[in-house]
Amino acid sequence: MAFLIAGAIPHQAQTPINDSNKLSKEQVLAHVDELKELIDEKIWPTYNDPAYSMEMNYYEDGPFRMHLNQAEDDTLARMECSSPEITIQAVPSVKTYEEWYAMLMHECFHGFQYKHTDFWNKMLASTPENFISSDSLKTLRRNYEWNRDMLSKENALLKKAYEASGIHEVRHILSDFFSIRDERLKTVKDRLGLDIIEFYPIIETVEGSARYIEYCLAREQGITDTDWMTNLDSNSCYYASGLYLMLIMDKFGIPYKDELFQKCYTLTELIQEKIRFSTEDIQILIEIRPEVNYVTHLYTLAELGFSDPAYAAKYGNSLPKAAIDTLQKYKEYLTFGQGENAPYSWFFFKVAQETFSNADELKTIMDDYREEAIRMGAPANEMAIPTTIANVYVENYDNYLKNVYPQVKAEMEERQQLLSQKMQGQSFVRDWERVTGYTWRRGDYHWLLYCAGQKGPSYNNLNDSTNTVWYNQNIDYQLAMFSHEFGIFLMQDSIDPIVEEFKEYTRKLDSDRDLTYVPWSAFESLACWYNCKIAGRKTADYHAFGEADVQTFCRIFDRLSNFGISDPAELYRKGIMEYLKGDG
Ligand SMILES: [Zn+2]
Repeated sequence: MAFLIAGAIPHQAQTPINDSNKLSKEQVLAHVDELKELIDEKIWPTYNDPAYSMEMNYYEDGPFRMHLNQAEDDTLARMECSSPEITIQAVPSVKTYEEWYAMLMHECFHGFQYKHTDFWNKMLASTPENFISSDSLKTLRRNYEWNRDMLSKENALLKKAYEASGIHEVRHILSDFFSIRDERLKTVKDRLGLDIIEFYPIIETVEGSARYIEYCLAREQGITDTDWMTNLDSNSCYYASGLYLMLIMDKFGIPYKDELFQKCYTLTELIQEKIRFSTEDIQILIEIRPEVNYVTHLYTLAELGFSDPAYAAKYGNSLPKAAIDTLQKYKEYLTFGQGENAPYSWFFFKVAQETFSNADELKTIMDDYREEAIRMGAPANEMAIPTTIANVYVENYDNYLKNVYPQVKAEMEERQQLLSQKMQGQSFVRDWERVTGYTWRRGDYHWLLYCAGQKGPSYNNLNDSTNTVWYNQNIDYQLAMFSHEFGIFLMQDSIDPIVEEFKEYTRKLDSDRDLTYVPWSAFESLACWYNCKIAGRKTADYHAFGEADVQTFCRIFDRLSNFGISDPAELYRKGIMEYLKGDG
């Protein structure tokens, strides 16, 4: 259907709804039948299949009706619809007969969806208990600025994906789109206690596909004013976002209409499945960015768990002593390592993954954090420390950008090139998928190099596909760790929940040893174990996790795998139990 989007619309005269153009009931219903036939032929196969069609009651008087009405036994629905003349009084934006038909066909498509019983039941089952109506989604956008902000990021990506010229590009953009969306739905749940994680993609499918029928039919009929249908900036933007997902599949010739309702998919599931990343498409990118370098610069000069005498000798003067003292003073709030984070360690993790090109932009970000914290109910007297820290960050950034960053960037470029070269043709994505049985779905994998902090916690992941590393480590070790960390990323969705479970468990164990390191240690060891397996030798990471007791864990994993256990989550869980028994 790509012609519908790109091609010029033939200009056809529209027929205004008024008394002189009024059609009889029989004429209207006859044309409805013709349109259903046309939709079946050109827009959505099986639309006119009797198995999915629905009885219609047409009203030439009474109140405005345009909806599905469920019968009392809850099994049958029929379409209730008012004549164009009644409709125009209730919905003045519908001005022509063509627009009215498009609207009606949208509603009839809900009947079509309803007749795909499994799909419809899936929607009903996913509706959260404390959900009032689909209006709640509109209210959500209207009332919460953060939700609006996240939605606009999300939707900008969707537009970009639609405008992209190749499917490779679409994959990458949509992968970002879906991670921002996941984050938004999670945030809605965390902040408002409204769980729409399952429901949102389904209602988007329901309304987006009905909007699609309406949109395509409008264009078939020569209606040029369709911008409101693709408007992603409205409170009901899930109609348009669903439409966009379908237009993207149309544009790239991806078939989906036979499967969507038949196989009970959401558009999200379907498009992800259809354009799934193939391993060959994934790039491992070695990048140099100012933000993470600035953050490690501060952490290193203030010795917040990072230290680097050579770096400090060179760049120590660029940060005033008062700034260093302030950061030092709050050291216990800022440090992190071995899976444990101090309360304000987000000054490392969150800030390092932001994008800001000067102090003013950084200030805006810090102000947003503060507002967010207040909204989340942080007491005012707890804001003093983060505010002080934030000021140090903001006040020293412009100077850093001007006097430090150009030099450190130049220092790292040679290593960046070497690593980029080594990453060409790397097979570790495929290798890890093979040994774990998991699939990598997050697109490109990013490594950010930083210059300060030779000693300190390297390999800190900023988000689920970005990691950081001190640039100049031994190259063999670095390559082994790149693979190791990829394994951690790949496994974390299934292992992280078990880590939390075991953190609880080990805390409660009555032991004279402190065992809280065990869940972290077991996970790192599992990554080492697989890494060695892939390489067919002891990789450099095997010897590097001093406190993690990798050797003992690897012996345990060897034994378990000889018993035929191959699932990473099971290996992890059983491995810990064996380890705690002292069965190394
Ligand atoms: Zn609808």
